[in-house]
Amino acid sequence: MSSNGRKLELPASIVIRDLAQKIEKSPIDLIKKLMSNGVMATINQTVDFDTAAIVVGEYGFDAVLEVAEEEKQVETGEVPLWRQMIADENKALLKPRPPVITILGHVDHGKTSLLDAIRQTDVAAGEAGGITQHIAAYQIEKKGRLITFLDTPGHAAFTQMRARGAQGADIVVLVVAADDGVMPQTKEAIAHAKAARVPIMVALNKVDKSNANPDRVKQQLAEQELVPDDWGGNTMVVPVSAKQKQGIDDLLEGILLVADSNDIKGNPSGKVLGTVIEAELDKSKGTIATLLVQNGTLETGDVVVVGTAYGKLRAMTDYKGKPIKKAGPSTPVAVTGLNDVPSAGDIFAVVESEKIARAIVGERLDEAKTKAQFRKKVSLEDLFANVKAGEAKGLNLIVKADVQGSLDPIVTELNKLGEGEINVSILHAETGNISVNDVMLASASSAIVIGFNVQADVDARRMAEKEGVDIRLYEIIYRMTEDIGKALNGMLEPKLVEKIIGRAQVLQVFAASKFGRVAGCKVTDGELKRGAKVRLQRGADVVYEGDLSSLRHEKDDVKEIRQGYECGVGFKNFSDIQSGDQLVCYVVE
Ligand code: GDP
Repeated sequence: MSSNGRKLELPASIVIRDLAQKIEKSPIDLIKKLMSNGVMATINQTVDFDTAAIVVGEYGFDAVLEVAEEEKQVETGEVPLWRQMIADENKALLKPRPPVITILGHVDHGKTSLLDAIRQTDVAAGEAGGITQHIAAYQIEKKGRLITFLDTPGHAAFTQMRARGAQGADIVVLVVAADDGVMPQTKEAIAHAKAARVPIMVALNKVDKSNANPDRVKQQLAEQELVPDDWGGNTMVVPVSAKQKQGIDDLLEGILLVADSNDIKGNPSGKVLGTVIEAELDKSKGTIATLLVQNGTLETGDVVVVGTAYGKLRAMTDYKGKPIKKAGPSTPVAVTGLNDVPSAGDIFAVVESEKIARAIVGERLDEAKTKAQFRKKVSLEDLFANVKAGEAKGLNLIVKADVQGSLDPIVTELNKLGEGEINVSILHAETGNISVNDVMLASASSAIVIGFNVQADVDARRMAEKEGVDIRLYEIIYRMTEDIGKALNGMLEPKLVEKIIGRAQVLQVFAASKFGRVAGCKVTDGELKRGAKVRLQRGADVVYEGDLSSLRHEKDDVKEIRQGYECGVGFKNFSDIQSGDQLVCYVVE
């Protein structure tokens, strides 16, 4: 490597194609140079910094490692609500509090095993032994300091909980199995952590397995902008075996180190608030809610408001089931006394009296009604206005495409658009249809979902409708870049919006001479209207989209038909109807 060459910043790992582009050489040339250095690589393969440095050295460049990779990851997404709510606490009164940890990762990579292994390191928790009930959070002691763990269910159906787990945490421990590497849910977890601006450290699990390949995993992590510390990056990667209980102490010490560099504080005498970890209705005790106190000190007898539930706390127990009277910042507690079951992820706060609590809840119920109609989420149309008004700093995107080959250029194009005045952050880019998980992530981070040559699953559409998430589908790249570009410049023309007016279920299919085949349906929701648009869905697929051309009730032609009634529906030029299909009727406004 020449020491007086041109300086060139390189990441900890880089794809050959990108490297070639960076130094403006042909990739073939580069591959030849690599070969002459004994490295066989194809254009799509990644090389580490050291290898890249040697090769670019031969072209007269002096490579230096790009710094602050990890700082980037906390700049996207929005600051979680509870953090915003305590932003005005008196700095002088802030005291260090235990870090709150969420363990996330791909299914079967060992989240549950790791949580169990950690719990067993704590003698006190061990003594509690045959714990009688499932606890959604626990604390352990390490070096005389407490660490709080949130035990979010690992089940795929609990993405929502995981998204919220990341919202409540100070640090995300990402479990990656050393024999399996970075998988789709690993990427999703990274996206959730970034969206909640929570620092990530990695527990490289299953290192006891004979086919464990830590280096390959580190490479994959680097590709996700999580550059391992031993590669010169900022992401702590701790090898562990949850099964053999190895490396657990290192992991806990690592957590304390990450905690120390993140200034985790709260005001024990400040306003009392925190997050609901989980809640359920118990037949004899009423609502039992597991709360994580994040600021202030919660006491029995306090009046708590959470969402549209409220109540005076009757009893409070710690994670071992022991009754306690007070709980300070980062303490998980189970409480009774709420009049209703709150949702996991909701923020609770203590108010002065039950009268005030009732007033707040009343207001919220009214608000919820209006909000259901006018959700304040980002749509592409609103984006420019929001940025102008200082309410949004940029555009967050989730990108789905049919194949990797189209995903890469799309991401490149979108990143280019973000080089102007308004920042574009791609929180997650992956191949496949738009799923509920994508919509959840978009909702949690006020992002827009872009689909290229893909569809949105039926459940995803429904969720998007409910959460007010904007899904944009494209088939041509320039149409997409044109749209987004226009939005960034405040020039997007108002979009035609689809408004769903009714749904029906196909119960039977009839042959009718005039219309071919006719669907015998029952209207399950709203109404169907002749002349409106319809979509026929079979499972996750849309099998027909077009006009509703005939509508009959018994033997009569009708203009519309309401919920609860049965009817016959014919479609223009389409007769492949099956019983069980779902019919969605909508108008375009
Ligand atoms: P989760 O789905 O992420 O919660 O994963 P689990 O904790 O349920 O673990 C999935 C499987 O991996 C189980 O069969 C565990 O016994 C196994 N497992 C977890 N950790 C380790 C480990 O460190 N080494 C080995 N060999 N197996 C492990």
